[in-house]
Order: sequence, then structure tokens, then C-alpha cells
Amino acid sequence: DYKPGGYHPAFRGETYNGGRYMLVRKLGWGHFSTVWLARDTVSNAHVAMKIVRSDKVYTEAALDEIKLLRRVSTRDGSLGGYYDSSKHILSLSDSFEHTGPNGKHVVMVFEVLGENLLALIKKYEHRGIPVMYVKQIAKQLLLGLDYMHRKCGVIHTDIKPENVLMEVGDVEAIVKMVELLDKQKRDQRKFQKRATKTAIEPSVNIASVNSSRSSTSTSLERSGTRRVRRHTLITGSQPLPSPISSTNFFEMKSQMMGQSLPRPMPSSKSNINISGGEEEQVTNSLSSLEISTCTDEHAEDATPRNLDVIQIKIADLGNACWYDEHYTNSIQTREYRSPEVILGCEWGCSADVWSAACLIFELLTGDFLFEPDEGHSYTKDDDHIAQIIELLGELPYNMLETGRHSRTFFNSKGMLRNISKLKFWPLKDVLHEKYKFSEEDAENISDFLLPMLRLSPQDRADAGGMVNHPWLEDTVGLEGLKLDSRSLYDSGAGIPGWFQEVPRK
Ligand code: ATP
Ligand code: MG
Ligand code: MG
Repeated sequence: DYKPGGYHPAFRGETYNGGRYMLVRKLGWGHFSTVWLARDTVSNAHVAMKIVRSDKVYTEAALDEIKLLRRVSTRDGSLGGYYDSSKHILSLSDSFEHTGPNGKHVVMVFEVLGENLLALIKKYEHRGIPVMYVKQIAKQLLLGLDYMHRKCGVIHTDIKPENVLMEVGDVEAIVKMVELLDKQKRDQRKFQKRATKTAIEPSVNIASVNSSRSSTSTSLERSGTRRVRRHTLITGSQPLPSPISSTNFFEMKSQMMGQSLPRPMPSSKSNINISGGEEEQVTNSLSSLEISTCTDEHAEDATPRNLDVIQIKIADLGNACWYDEHYTNSIQTREYRSPEVILGCEWGCSADVWSAACLIFELLTGDFLFEPDEGHSYTKDDDHIAQIIELLGELPYNMLETGRHSRTFFNSKGMLRNISKLKFWPLKDVLHEKYKFSEEDAENISDFLLPMLRLSPQDRADAGGMVNHPWLEDTVGLEGLKLDSRSLYDSGAGIPGWFQEVPRK
């Protein structure tokens, strides 16, 4: 991928935009770009720089991304109240072109954020994040989406944990620490190289420890990076030797701020290293130099100790579009894909709300809400639709009628062609029976999620209205925050392009 038309071979110390920005370290990467931490020599603060592949298609997509980012970065986000919802979307501060050996690359400059929500899900070993945090994330996500849909006319189309990033607090202090640790790591490598050369101490090899945990396969779908299934546990590998093992974001942040996020529930096996499909992406991030380990010493910390306020921002507008200009109908990453998109019906802003509900369920339980797979006689789409029906009931007749792909899945009687035995299991029962929420909690969570999972995009509850849901009333940091101009369970009232593309004026 590092060839003409591909990624730019960036390196530490490289300068950009006439010497204004200097690269410090890699933060992450995606299908379209690599993302780097850089120092802005004008403001003397740090920024995140997304360096896009140089091929024409990537450049064109990036120029659209910039237009969309400019729209959402215009900070006029107060929507029916004093609260500025625009702060929950990653904002663009600069953009320019950079020429390198692989061609001309579009570069976007952002504020520096920390880990994405997938890292948080992994931190809790896929057993669910404490409800207190889920509420904070959910409320902020809905505020951000409401701003995007209602104020900007922008549809994200790829809401998933990887595209929601957490703030890290004092960026400059953390960067200082990270730079120090990076230097230690480099020195350690140098030392080992020398030691190996002179054959004095050949036994410790950090490189091999590193490679054993990043043996991943990342398959790509059009609408985003797919991740490897959740049950990929690499067992038996030991935590890296000090000092690298102590550079986890959570420890770092707690050290810096005197606070700590609650530890995951004690694991039955200690010292399990969790590995997922985007290992590289996660381990390269500013905040996560080391993957999580759960040891017995942390076992007693299963409940929240401090009321830490998580701040999140929606990132990656690389697949976003306008309410009156859709670029493609192949949208959303598989697990977060809405029924209207699978069936080939019209879609709009409400598709994001479906994905948001899938994401919130995943935060609560650590599992995908829908995890379709293909079998001998059915496709992933068949399985996906079957799972949706099992959880939420039959699809409305008009969706089967208007969906461009409906015929592939349903026969003339409206029955699934390739899957016959469906096991109905309503959301409330799934939450209680499978995930052991109390009956009351299961009922409240399901009351909150179901309006966002209404099968017909036209009827789906809008993000702004859902901010006013009683389940979010006691959200830490946003207690009692309501959007006066929105009604709970409303379905996109006054939002152009809510369930279909509006003709461009
Ligand atoms: P995709 O394949 O998902 O379309 P992409 O090439 O469009 O990826 P992004 O998703 O924007 O790239 O960014 C890739 C990764 O870089 C993110 O998942 C995140 O880990 C990291 N990243 C992006 N922006 C920032 C930021 N502002 N601060 C810190 N890390 C970031
Ligand atoms: Mg992304
Ligand atoms: Mg992208």
C-alpha cells in the first residue's frame, strides 16, 4: 500500500505545509489514510494529521470529506437550548496538500483525541462497560448526531465504535509522557540490537513479543474496516517488560489526573491479552501503547470508584454524505447496517440512529447486536435479516415491496427464501436472560433502544428526541439536560432527508 497512489511514507521529524507541522508519531490508520501526531510550530500545540492515500479516488473522497467537515466544524451548535452539541464532532482545523514519493496527498488537521470506543470495549473484555459510562457516551453521541442531522444536513453513514473517539484530557502533558516512553522504547531497541550483534544477551526480544500480538488479519469492506470476530483471544503471552507495559492510556490518564476508570470485571483466567482485528490501529494510538491485561491485583476494582466524565467525539466523516446528495447506497459497516439499506429501500439520516442503537447495545453487553454469518444455504444478508426479524418482528410490507433487493431474500408470500426456522427473542428478554440485567433494567434499556431500532426508517425515533429519554436523565455530567425543541419518540419531524434523499435544489 506504500506505492504510488497509496499511503505516504511518513516519518518522525518530517515537516508539512511549509514547515508548519512536524510529525511526532503514528496514531492510527484506516483504509484511506494514516493518522499522525504532529506539532504545530505556530501554536506550539499538538495536532492529529490524517494523510490520505494519493490515488484519484481517495483524493476526491477526501475533498468531499473536507467539505462535510467544514460544515460540521462551523461551531454554531446550540440546538434548542444552551448546550453546544457540535463539540461532539471532531473538528477540522486545517487542510492542505503534501507531495511525496507516492504522489500528492490531501492532509487534514484535527485536534488530538485518544482511543476509540472499540478499545474501551476490549478494555472491559467484551463483557460490557458500566452503565454509568454507557449513558455518557450514548447521550453525547445522540447530541452529536442531532447536530449533524438537523443543523448540518449531514449523514455519517458509518457509526461504529472505531469511529467514536474519546478525549484524553491534557493532551500536551500526555504527549510529553508518550515522547519520553517512545524514546525509552527506541533506546531499548538499540540496546537489544547491539546486544544481539555481540551475542551477549540474545534471550529477550521485544520485537518478537510485539509481532506475536499483532498477528491479525484485517479484511476491508467498502464502508469501513471490518474487525475480526470477537473471540480472538491470544492466551499465554506475557505482558511486555517494563517500562513499556505501564504505558496504557488508562493508567496514564489516571496517573495524570488522579482518577481512574473502573477495572474490568475479574477474569477467570488471569493475564489474558486481548487481541482484535485492528490491533495495529489500537496499539499505535497515542493512548494505547500496550494492550490490556487483566490480573488478579485488579480484581477488587470491578465497580466505579470515581465519577469520571468521559467525553466523546464522532470522527471519520470519510463515508459521510449530504441529506440531498448521497454518494452511494452501499453504506454502513455490516454489523451496524440498517434493514432499509440491506433491502435496498430509500434511506436517510435515520440510518445513523439504527447504527447508534447497535453501538449502544454493544457498549452495554460487549457483543454485537447483530452478527450475521453465511452458511451453506444462506448469505450474510439472509442471516442478517433473519436476526433482525427474530429480535424485532416482521419487516413492514411496504419495505419488502419497495426494496430493490427484497426479491433475493423473500418469496412472493413474504417468507424468507433461505432460512425457515426463526427463533423469536425480544430485546428485553435477551438483556435479562442472556446478559443478566435485572428485569427492571432490561425493561428500561429496551424502552430506550427499541424506538431507535424501529424497522421502518420513517418511524425511527430521531437522535434529538432520544436525548430526552428518561434513561439518560441521570447521565453524569449531563444531568437533566433536555432539548426543549425536540419531542421524545418523534420520528424526524422537520428534519429534511430523514428517511430518503431529498432532491438537490
Ligand atoms: P477508515 O478505514 O475507518 O475509513 P480512515 O482512513 O478514514 O479509516 P480514520 O478513521 O479517520 O481514518 O482514522 C483512523 C484511525 O486514526 C482512527 O480509528 C483513530 O484510531 C486514529 N485517529 C483518527 N483521528 C484521530 C484524532 N483526531 N486523534 C487521535 N487519533 C485519531
Ligand atoms: Mg475510521
Ligand atoms: Mg474513513
